This record gives sequence, C-alpha cells and structure tokens, in this order.
Amino acid sequence: MKPDFNLSLVLARIEDAIRPYPKAAMFDLAERGYTSLFEQLISCIISIRTLDETTIPVSLRLFEKARTPEQLLVLDIPTLTELLDGTTYPDQKAYTLRGIAERIIHEFDGTLPADFDTLISLKGVGPKCANLALGVATGQAAISVDIHVHRVVNRWGYVHTRQPEQTLKVLETQVPQAQWININRLLMPFGKHICTGTLPHCSTCPVLDYCEQVGVDRHR
Ligand code: SF4
Repeated sequence: MKPDFNLSLVLARIEDAIRPYPKAAMFDLAERGYTSLFEQLISCIISIRTLDETTIPVSLRLFEKARTPEQLLVLDIPTLTELLDGTTYPDQKAYTLRGIAERIIHEFDGTLPADFDTLISLKGVGPKCANLALGVATGQAAISVDIHVHRVVNRWGYVHTRQPEQTLKVLETQVPQAQWININRLLMPFGKHICTGTLPHCSTCPVLDYCEQVGVDRHR
C-alpha cells in the first residue's frame, strides 16, 4: 500500500535527485540571460524533436545574430536554415521563425504579448511551447507537458491519460499553481535521466515509495 501522494515532497526529492544533471534547455538558456518571451519561444521551437544538447548551442548561435524580431527578419531563409543546422526540420523552422517575427512586427508593434491565446495563434506554436515560454519568461503560472512529464505522472498513478494534451488538463486541476512551472523544470530532467522511457531507475528512485509504477514491466 502506497502512502497518500504528497506532490510537494515528491518534487522536493526530485529537485535533489536531478541536481547532478544538466538543466532543461529553456531553463539553462534563461540562466544564461536569454529570458525574453521572444527568445524563449524561439528556443522552444528550435527544441521541437531536438535534443537539449543540440537546442542549447543552436539557440546560442542564432542569438548571436538575432535576439529580437527585427534582428531575425534581417536574416534570409538560407541564412536562418544554416544557423538552425543540427535541429530537425531546419528549413521548416526557418520559415516558422520568420513568420512569427513578421507577425510580431506587423500585428503587435514589435512586442510579443504575454498571452497564451496569442502565442498559440502563431503558426508553429503549440500549447507546450506557449506555456513553457510564458512560464520561464514571465513567471506566469503555466504547465508545459512534454513526453517526459506525461510519462512520469502517469507512472506515478497521479494521472491516467493517453495524450499529453489530456495530461495538461488534469494537471491544471490537480497541481497547485505555485508548482506549475516546477512540473516542467523538474520532471523533464527527471524523465530524461531517472524515470527513463525504457528501464527506469526504480531501484534507486527517490520517490519509489509514492510511485505506483504504472506500466513499468522492467526496470533497473
Ligand atoms: S519508481 Fe520508477 S517508475 Fe516510479 S518515478 Fe521512480 S523511476 Fe519512475
């Protein structure tokens, strides 16, 4: 029998456990000073289907040339594609980034509104990136659910969902708002390094006593 699930305690243990591992890309970039909503959104688009180990250097390379919509529009598609080399779909992402920069300049007077509905109205921006960028750049309470977050909270038995979109809706009703940004900050590295997709490290996991290990057949 598992004890009553204590989210605050679980997250505190995970905070300690992930200390030796690299931070999730957006949080790493924020610590380096790339904290604007535009920069966070751009980096999140770069990160789509791309490892953090690539997202960070590619974002840094792009930010050397462009940190604002105006600066980004100076770069043509071939140049942008070259700067995005290493990510998945660099040419497609080049068009996406230019499209976003154009809308910001023409519709929003050069300043990206810190508003979820506006962000997801931008072509190429989904709820995951909108919430992550808002949470990291503006401190707005926002949960971003990627595959790691989705997998971990389902294994805990904390949610019972099939799709990340469903997970987001359930987490928004169950998690206190003060913890929303921590869900992503902590569970991305935790899912990447400890509660891994295959063979999770259950035998040394700091939250084993709270975890139902739903769907875990084999582990380390
Ligand atoms: S006990 Fe295993 S399944 Fe549960 S959170 Fe830890 S690593 Fe993941």
